Amino acid sequence: MSRNIIGFMKRKFPPNIAKRRAEKIKEIDDKIRSLYIQRYYLIDTCRHNIIKTSAGDARCDICGTYFGWWCPKSSDHLCHYKEPDEWCIYCGQPEERK
Ligand SMILES: [Zn+2]
Ligand SMILES: [Zn+2]
Repeated sequence: MSRNIIGFMKRKFPPNIAKRRAEKIKEIDDKIRSLYIQRYYLIDTCRHNIIKTSAGDARCDICGTYFGWWCPKSSDHLCHYKEPDEWCIYCGQPEERK
């Protein structure tokens, strides 16, 4: 947290004022909950744009969701495995890679 905010909080909430402190904590909790719901919605409804990272992972460059290995052969660029096999049905690479 930045020093400015710490200074501001020290002035606004001296250690002896319990009620205001409790209210502020509740207010922050409500905001966090609301922000998490908004974040969840944005990720859940993202039309993912899958890119290959420098590490070879498939990741959405909009919301950051990780999808495992980037696949050169499948149309969605994700590796797909069919139980009990551990090799991608498109590129043949194993699920466990270095
Ligand atoms: Zn996404
Ligand atoms: Zn694959």
